[in-house]
Formats: sequence, C-alpha cells, structure tokens
Amino acid sequence: DLRHVFAGGRIGRLALPHRVIMGAMHLGLETRDDGGAALAAFYTERVRGGAGLMVTGGAAVSAVGVGGPTYGVLGEAGFHARLSRVVKEVHDAGGLIALQLFHAGRYAVPAGLRPVAPSAVYSRFSRCEPLALTEAQVRASVDEFARGAAHARELGFDAVEIMGSEGYLIDQFLSPKTNLRDDEWGGDAERRGRFGAEVTRAVREAVGPSFPIIVRFSGLDLMDGGTRPANVFSFTRALVAAGADALNVGIGWHESPVPSVQAIVPPGLWIPFAARLKAAAGGLPVIAGNRVDRVELAASILAGPSVDFVSMARPFLADAKLIDNTLRGRPVNICVACNQACIDRSLDHRDVSCMVNPRAGRELGTAPVRPVRSLRVAIIGGGPAGLQAARQAALLGHSVELYEALDGLGGQFRMACKVPGKSNYRDTIGYFTAELARLGVRVHLNRAIGENDLGLLRSYDRVIVASGVRPHTLSIPGAGLPNVFSYPEAFGDGVLKGRVVIIGGGGIAIDLAHLAGRGESPLNDHERFRREHGLEPGPVLVTANAEVTILQRGSRLAGRTGKSTRWAVLAELRRQGTRVLQGVTYRQITPDGVHITDAAGADRLIEAHVVVIAAGQVADKAVPALAERAGVRYQTAGGARDADGLDAVRAFAEGFAAAAGL
Ligand code: SF4
Repeated sequence: DLRHVFAGGRIGRLALPHRVIMGAMHLGLETRDDGGAALAAFYTERVRGGAGLMVTGGAAVSAVGVGGPTYGVLGEAGFHARLSRVVKEVHDAGGLIALQLFHAGRYAVPAGLRPVAPSAVYSRFSRCEPLALTEAQVRASVDEFARGAAHARELGFDAVEIMGSEGYLIDQFLSPKTNLRDDEWGGDAERRGRFGAEVTRAVREAVGPSFPIIVRFSGLDLMDGGTRPANVFSFTRALVAAGADALNVGIGWHESPVPSVQAIVPPGLWIPFAARLKAAAGGLPVIAGNRVDRVELAASILAGPSVDFVSMARPFLADAKLIDNTLRGRPVNICVACNQACIDRSLDHRDVSCMVNPRAGRELGTAPVRPVRSLRVAIIGGGPAGLQAARQAALLGHSVELYEALDGLGGQFRMACKVPGKSNYRDTIGYFTAELARLGVRVHLNRAIGENDLGLLRSYDRVIVASGVRPHTLSIPGAGLPNVFSYPEAFGDGVLKGRVVIIGGGGIAIDLAHLAGRGESPLNDHERFRREHGLEPGPVLVTANAEVTILQRGSRLAGRTGKSTRWAVLAELRRQGTRVLQGVTYRQITPDGVHITDAAGADRLIEAHVVVIAAGQVADKAVPALAERAGVRYQTAGGARDADGLDAVRAFAEGFAAAAGL
C-alpha cells in the first residue's frame, strides 16, 4: 500500500509531490570543471525518475569545513556557476532541490589547513587533532552558515538543509565528548546546543521568514559518552524555536562503534529513534532515514503517526527511477548497502557510483542510444558482469541471448546472498532476471559453452564473455582429501559445521567465517541487532553452528573491504569468537586438520572437521579461448577478463562497459 508515500506533503511553504526525500550524497562531481554538466545530469535523471525533493551533497560553508578536495565551497564563483546550472536544469525538469550547508569541523579534510572544532579533541576518523575555535571564530562560523544560506536562496534553490548530524561541526558542539568548552558555547547541554540553534537562527534571518529550512541533526549519535537522549529532546525544541521548518533525524557518527548504514544493519532499524522526537518537534515534520532500502518500507513507516517524510539516499544511486519503477510495479534495482562504490569511494575522495548501477554518477554520455544496426549478441555467463552486460546490450537495442552453465542466474551473488547481511543480494539477481525478461533477452540455463559450440559462437555478431572465475587451488599435500572444500562447495548446505578452518583472509573467507559462525540469519532481526550492539538489554541469541578459525598467510584481514565496512565486519567476527591466525605457512592437510608453521616459527596442527580453501580465484580462460578459436568478435568482462583484485563493483562496471563498446 503506497498511498502514504504518494499523499504529498509540505515543508514550510514548499509543497512536495510525495513523502520520499532524496537524501544528501556527496558525488565527487561537485568540483568537476564542466560547468556543472555532470552534476546536473545526475540530479535531472532522478527528477525524471520521479524524485520529489532532493538534497544536494554537502556544500561547504567555508574552505576549512570541506570533506575533501572534491567538495565545493560556497562563495566560489565556479561552484556557484555549477550549482546554478543544477538548479536550472532540475527546475526545468520539474524537480525540487535543497542545498545542504556543510561544515565537517574535526572531520574536515581541508588542503593545507588544520581542521577546526569546538575543542582540540583528536578524531580517529580523520586522524587529526583539530584547532579549537576561539569565541570570535565560533561567531564567524555561524555567519558562514548564514551567508551560505543566502547564496542558496540567490542561486534559486527551493530550500536549505543545515547539516548537523553524522558527527560534523554542529554535532561536535552538541556532544560532551567533543565539546570541552566552558563558555557561551559549552559547559552544559544547553550551551552545547547553542551553536546549532544559533546557526538555525542566523540562517532563518538570512533567508527570510518563508524560505524552507530543514535541519539535520543526530537523533542518536551511537557514541560512548555522547549526547544523552534528554539533551537530544531539548536540542530538538531549540531548533524548532530557532526557526527550522523540518527536522531530519540522522543516526550515528563516522566514529561510532555501532554500524548504522552497513549491510548488517536491518532495514528500518533506526526509525523509532527518529519517531520518538515527534513529541519535541512542535508540530514540524520529522524526516527519518538511514537504511531504508525500498519505497514499500518507506510506506509502512509513513503509515505510522510520527514520521512525516522518509529520506532515502543510496537507493537513488542504485535506481534513478526508484520512485517511478515502484509506483508502476516495475523491477527496482535495490541498494544492497555494500557501500563499495558510494560511501567508500567518497571517503577515498573518488567519484561516487553504485555497484549494481555503474551508470550512477556517469549519466552524461551513457544514456542508451539505439545503434544504427541491431546486433546479435551472445553473453556467456550470468553473474554480475554478464547480467549487467545483457541488460545494457538489450537496452541499447541489440538482440541478446545469455548462456549460463548453472541452473540459475547470479554467479557469485548466489553464494553471497547466504551471508548474514547480504540476503538482499537475492533482490539484485531478481531485478536483473526480471529486467532481462522485460527486455526480451533469451536466457539459456544449464548451458555451458564448450568445444562443440564454435559454430554457435560464430552465429553471433558479437560475444561478451563473462564466464567468471575458478577458485584458486592449494598445492600442498592433502588438498584433495574429502574433508577439504573449495569455497563454492562450502557455501552449499550443511558443509560448515563443527570445527571449521578457513584458509584465506580475503572477502570471501570473511563471508564464509561469518556464515559459519552465525548461520543464515534473517536481515530483519531488529531485536537481535539492538541487543548485540547494546541498544537494549537482553540476552543475545547464540546460533553459531561452527567453531571457526581463519588461517592467513598475510597480516591484514579483509584488506580490500572498504573503510566504511571493514571494521564492522571484523567486529562481527570478534563477536562470534572467530579465531584468526596470521603470518602462517600451510604445510599439509590431514583428516585431523591443517598443519601449519605459525608466525613464531612453530609447527602446529590446527584441528578441523572441515577445511575450506578460500585463497583467491583465477580467471576462467576456457571460454575466451573458444571465442578466440571461433574467430568471433568478442570482449571479456569481470572475472573472465582478470581475476586479480576482482570485486562485484568491477564486474558490474565491466559488464556495462562491454555492452557500451559493442
Ligand atoms: Fe547501495 Fe552499494 Fe550501490 Fe552504494 S554501491 S548505492 S551501497 S548498492
């Protein structure tokens, strides 16, 4: 029942077509020297896909507050020109857009400048100790927000959002952990809240009585010794009194020890923490978000009495037509909260995109254009690269057939969707399966391409080989024993029980350890997550069906997992009691376990009922070799191209690129 989403709503004088707001996302396009073309293309594509009000990525109110080199600074002519183009094109397309006023404080990464903050409290997120602002500088910072808001209004934005959550400057003033001042701006909860309230007041003065102001602040900072719930309530009231029109409730800081937007967080988990602020909101709309992954979930949240709008950000990267596709009952490409192509890239100051939708952030020049001649295209392999290639080739107007050796589509995603937190990878497979059907792609399952298929390959104008990888094998004595499994075998039912030793320390090894230690657990178990992370008292269910040891040659577990997720995944393993031995040499596998030389040089037996080899993968070059022999025009994508450093982001992107290069 989507009626609660499409009921329309208001923020101040602004009428919104529906109740999903596209939340702020830094894209990395903000400083691109293209006059704002790419940025405008990103937003207008979302308007055309049904987005209502969109909030831009953070626009820094001062150079010292930027989140990195790709952040725009208000007051700079070039940035204003880009924003102006964005506003015009969004309005021409019939959309609404709010500018987010941003100052990262001690999280800032300003080139050649030392970040500033209420107090000189070291940040382990930005790895620096900021300079404490003087009283005069605090006042100047308030003025910077006001000036930024005035610019937003002059540039034609429909609203502003004051960014005060996620541990940025306003949050740093609010929290006793980062505000150690004892002056007008700190010392007790009221004075710590003063900065956020003064910013809101100054912004209101700068934009006049009727220009809509959203204030985003932390409803729950998830920091030990952070802002107490009672103080969040009084801060909420102060923001209302200072002139806010809507309250957007964020959850967690970048430094929080509790994950807030990672895949292991159950969707919808944080909504009650926003809803409870309704009582303090003085009748203003409350906006809730963080880990709302589909419009249907937004609808169920909006059916309740306390949340007026739902903010969704990453889902608009995964599917630019999120709203329209949902409304029309079409397949929706779901954000699986992997963070790999969005948050992790943003934290590395790289351009943002999306794992399941490589077109995100590259809208310019990648719109499907019908070719002069429609080609007959064969896609070999139905994993991420093949699925993406098939969809894209069909969108481009080619006649596409896909051959998959196994009995279902998805490739390595079929394994991944068993891993706790990754069950919605099934939705990605479902999306592509539905899209291929919609676009008329003929899918042949259980159809491996072999020696006898040279004629078949030659019957196509083009072939895209996305036949994937093979697991790396270990050449040590005992590797062929019946207690030894490859990682694809280990994902099968019932393998991971008893004493399990996993050889390898990469992403797949970690996924297996997680699966073995926890079992297939539903993604929607809110109570379990809250208990495990100390958000509510009560016993934690222990469902471990295996005792897991990871053996690694190197010394960095999950070394390629992104910054936003690695720490949370490792914390999960610690919680499960997974044992990790690093710097080891594997000598032999026997029915009793794995004989190793440990980091100290001692020979040991690590006892195991089950040994899993998850020590990497190699490109499967059999089909590319056949295509070569057939003399057909072909390209490779994903694992078939290069297994080194392969991840799903690269696989999807290469599938997309291969289709674009037909
Ligand atoms: Fe979601 Fe992953 Fe895409 Fe980011 S990269 S939008 S987390 S699916």
